[in-house]
Amino acid sequence: MTRVTALDDLPIRDDLRGQKPYWSPQIKPRVQLSVNENTHGIPAEAAADIAAAVTEAITSANRYPDYDFEDVRTAIADYLGHGLTYEQIWVANGSNEVLQQFLQAFGGPGRTAMGFRPSYSMHSILSRGTDTGWIDADRDENFELSAEAAVAAVRQHDPSITFLCTPNNPTGTPMGLEVIEAVYDATDGMVIVDEAYAEFSDLPSAITLLPGRPRLAVSRTLSKAFAFAGVRVGYLVADPAVIDALRLVRLPYHLSSLTQAAALAALRHAPALLSTVDSIKRQRDRTAAALTELGYRVYPSEANFLLVGGIADPPALHAALLERDILIRDNGIPNTLRITAGTPEETDLLLAAFTELGRP
Ligand SMILES: *Cc1c(COP(=O)(O)O)cnc(C)c1O
Repeated sequence: MTRVTALDDLPIRDDLRGQKPYWSPQIKPRVQLSVNENTHGIPAEAAADIAAAVTEAITSANRYPDYDFEDVRTAIADYLGHGLTYEQIWVANGSNEVLQQFLQAFGGPGRTAMGFRPSYSMHSILSRGTDTGWIDADRDENFELSAEAAVAAVRQHDPSITFLCTPNNPTGTPMGLEVIEAVYDATDGMVIVDEAYAEFSDLPSAITLLPGRPRLAVSRTLSKAFAFAGVRVGYLVADPAVIDALRLVRLPYHLSSLTQAAALAALRHAPALLSTVDSIKRQRDRTAAALTELGYRVYPSEANFLLVGGIADPPALHAALLERDILIRDNGIPNTLRITAGTPEETDLLLAAFTELGRP
């Protein structure tokens, strides 16, 4: 198509000029280990039941969906436990939409959000999209974040929203609850903890900190452990007043009836869907041990992926693996690449390729 207009020629918002959209390569290699999906997929029995629920829902798709979806929120509350009720749960099309709604409600022009890099790129991209100023604070050289360092950054910048991510993407680093408590006490802004990978971690969830902390919110997703990335279901857990705030900015009927039906059926099958988690962790740990043995520096991970360091030339290694039909991720962190934990067969292929390519 011949383009007569370039983006720069349009009267776009000044703060969006020169920005880059989210990007990851959309190719289909034999071994796809680049975007932290659940490589093990949905067990067949659960898939059939979810499909039946979606089939049933399509028969009434002439009607708008339930815009408060209390049944989905109740199912999530029951799944999480901790005495939660549906009033403390909000759901949207992926946790990315939840985060966007959170920024619409608590960020916006004249306000700032802060995160600790390297972390999930969408936190800053969504902030910019909602015209919320973005502040980069830093993790230490091991990609860890102490309570002291986090509190110092919060005091210095006084953001309206502080993003914490545990286990952190793209480093896999978990965060102790004491860091979250300290950040909460140091700010009068909102604190959001992105727990997209919580099911892979043995650490207690920030959900346990919610009682008595109305400015704290925890975002989660069915995209990773639940193998539901393609359906787009994410959720937020917080004080009911926070949910009321998100209602002010969400689109009416934002969660389709098909999504609601699929989410409800998936939550009914939670044990089956989550049964892949142990296998994923075994492949992650097997990969970590093998790459450490080969001389790479593998950072500790509580997620379904590994950040691998000690790589002299990450783009060259990335390309060499892609030649072998294996896609991993270059997040631009010097001397590192990120690898999603694969199936046992994918891990065989990955480790064979690494072995063939030799020491870093
Ligand atoms: C993958 C990921 C998400 C998931 O986003 P969805 O919109 O729920 O698919 C959220 N946060 C982090 C840190 C992630 O890595």
